[in-house]
Amino acid sequence: MDYTPIEEIPRIRDTLRATFATGVTKPLAWRRHQLFQLARMMQENAEALADAINADLGRPRMEAYMAEVCVILERSMICAEKLEEWTKPEVLTDIPDWQKPWHPAVYKMPKGTVLIISPWNYPLILSLQPLYGAISAGCCAVIKTSEYAPNYANLLSQLLPQYLDPSAYHVVKGEVAEVTRLLELQWDHIFYTGNGKIARVISAAAAKHLTPVTLELGGKSPVIIDGTFDMRLAAKRILWAKANNSGQMCVIPDYILVLREKQDELIEAFKEHYATFWPDGPLNSKSYSRIVNELHFKRVSDLLARTKGEIVLGGKSTSSFSFETTIVKNVADGDSLLEQEIFGPLLPIIPVDSVQDAIDFIGARNHPLVLYAFTEDSETKRKVIENTTSGNLAFNDCVQQLTVNELPFGGVGESGYGRQVLKYSYELFTYIRATVDIPKSAEHTLEVRYAPYSKEQLDFFAAPLNMVIPKSTPTGLVMNGIH
Ligand code: NAD
Repeated sequence: MDYTPIEEIPRIRDTLRATFATGVTKPLAWRRHQLFQLARMMQENAEALADAINADLGRPRMEAYMAEVCVILERSMICAEKLEEWTKPEVLTDIPDWQKPWHPAVYKMPKGTVLIISPWNYPLILSLQPLYGAISAGCCAVIKTSEYAPNYANLLSQLLPQYLDPSAYHVVKGEVAEVTRLLELQWDHIFYTGNGKIARVISAAAAKHLTPVTLELGGKSPVIIDGTFDMRLAAKRILWAKANNSGQMCVIPDYILVLREKQDELIEAFKEHYATFWPDGPLNSKSYSRIVNELHFKRVSDLLARTKGEIVLGGKSTSSFSFETTIVKNVADGDSLLEQEIFGPLLPIIPVDSVQDAIDFIGARNHPLVLYAFTEDSETKRKVIENTTSGNLAFNDCVQQLTVNELPFGGVGESGYGRQVLKYSYELFTYIRATVDIPKSAEHTLEVRYAPYSKEQLDFFAAPLNMVIPKSTPTGLVMNGIH
């Protein structure tokens, strides 16, 4: 992959800024056209895009369509359809009569020229989902693709200028030096997806320019199993999720907390589905990806080599970085598999004595991006909802929550901040401008503010001090809306 020459980077940013300043990106017709072009780019190049992702990650075409190409196609179309609704200024009506002549309104304005920094694991959706948000908002954008997905980066840099306005959208290819140069420049928003260590570099650089940042990070997403949900089905759903992209997904189930007496039943169910999904083993299956590169392959191999748990399924790998989905039982606190986000096809099972123990285990660690729980017990559900913190919470399936277009996606604490997908992506690149237009005729309502101040004026502004605040009690069983 050829990298973007470092000295060109400021020029690219300046070109985009100049484009934004002309106002060309703001009309809805223009934004809609770019969104349709993005959808068209997916439609006309679906195979080539899937092939590029396959070359980078060994991902089956079905998964590339399911999780990336077709999602961007569909969501770009939805954005185009919803633009009118999202961008409509809100004229406030529920306001005191004396302020009505001011016509208070909220306008949705594009932030300007934004920087999108994306990772390798889902290189297409993680670069183009923020892009459709930026287009919808009326912004210009630089997309920095990951050096670990070079085939995708090369293809995107060829395709984008054929479909989208090249003076408004530009791909920068490179790694640390290129990102570092990008980060020296001022941007109107930075959207970063990747690991938490680099997120700190991004945040620190953004702080120098007071640039708002979205951080889509990862972490260890746990699964709680209390045994009340069909165990065979739970195993099937978890195994499918875990094997996606060989476990290299931010929302992948990272570890399982299962009631001790249910562990073996769960493992038996995993064995059954393993044999059905991959009759000749995952390494011989066309429905299975590989690990992205040697660095991550060695990292995952090392985690497995050092576990004190018992491998009950999988464990084998090849020199071309394919690694079997591997299930490890009786994993305990302090194990290598609990040291860091696994981001690979290893699935540790930690037996616990109660749901409360599972909740405590999770609570003692960084807030996960997603928390999964398989349960049909309403008391378990209530406990999980009320006593845990996570970006998303999904009951009785894994990863599938991402298909609900209308749900916001993002983390909390170490798993990041900001929310994306459709309207939420649009909102990230939009700022809210509050406006009033106070007519001359409103002067009689404003006289009371002018000096010299009198006792009457003091009494007028002190009126809220006489408000009656209701008596209330701090006790209650459930949170708002949780039943
Ligand atoms: P990566 O190595 O591709 O890095 C991401 C980006 O950061 C790349 O564009 C890269 O060039 C840049 N980068 C790398 N080192 C840098 C440095 N020193 N200074 C500045 N920029 C640098 O991807 P990754 O970080 O390995 O991605 C995997 C992580 O991302 C996992 O933790 C995963 O959970 C998380 N993730 C989160 C989401 C989400 O939506 N929340 C989605 C996918 C991945």
